[in-house]
Amino acid sequence: MRWRGGRRSENVEDRRGARMPMGGGLRIGGGGLLLMLLVLWLLGADPMTLLSMLAGGGGGDVTQVDPRGYETEPTPQAGGARDEQAEFVSVVVGALEDTWGEIFSQAGQRYQPPTLVLFTDVVRSACGMAQSAMGPFYCPLDQKVYIDLGFYRDLRQRFRAPGDFAQAYVIAHEVGHHIQTLLGISQQVQKQRERMSQEMGNQLSVRLELQADCFAGVWAHHAHRSRQLLEEGDVEEGLNAAAAIGDDRLQRQTQGTVVPESFTHGSSAQRVTWFRRGLETGDMNACDTFSAGAS
Ligand SMILES: [Zn+2]
Repeated sequence: MRWRGGRRSENVEDRRGARMPMGGGLRIGGGGLLLMLLVLWLLGADPMTLLSMLAGGGGGDVTQVDPRGYETEPTPQAGGARDEQAEFVSVVVGALEDTWGEIFSQAGQRYQPPTLVLFTDVVRSACGMAQSAMGPFYCPLDQKVYIDLGFYRDLRQRFRAPGDFAQAYVIAHEVGHHIQTLLGISQQVQKQRERMSQEMGNQLSVRLELQADCFAGVWAHHAHRSRQLLEEGDVEEGLNAAAAIGDDRLQRQTQGTVVPESFTHGSSAQRVTWFRRGLETGDMNACDTFSAGAS
């Protein structure tokens, strides 16, 4: 990918290395205090007194924990990436903003870009706490994409999908979910899922995921047209990544068997098909994965 020198997005929040608001601080510094509170409680102490001790009166490390957590204080200058991988990510996010901004404005609409949050190990989102092992995700409630850059190591080694465009595809897929949220598609699917069986619900979820893949392709198509983003081999990298994280291949890797009814993201072949469709057409309308007969 020709990403160097590209515009860096300002919508990147760097929370790597941030301390968790409660858990981390308590575990490291306040274990003794917690134990003491527990003993006091067992002895019949007033819960309100105990709570006030926890909230600050107890002293020790706990008082240093900001109850609002780090969420209110993202690292200043988060847009100024502090290493190459973070710089890469913010250029990709910038390219996504430019492309989707153009597509929306051509449709007479204003594009509200998502924020990308970099984290390590554990993160608090408006959708709840999340661990790195869950992989990158998009939270519609705060309209943020969350990624632990350690996932790229997994993508290279565990999933055997190396390459910078493979990495960009992962972010583009999550931003695809943001587009679905802006268009109200995710909300519709969510509503329908509440009224159906788990199996039917999973099928709808697959449609949603495949559309996000297709939107990722649409982005790559336009980013290449306007900025010659792609280099020799990039398309193959992206398709390879789409195949590598298909549900069937993941299940075979982790469980040894494949259970199609439990798919929530689609098979490798489906993911490749829809990513390619977006990539080749550059047309969002070609991404109707919900229509009957779409495979
Ligand atoms: Zn997804």
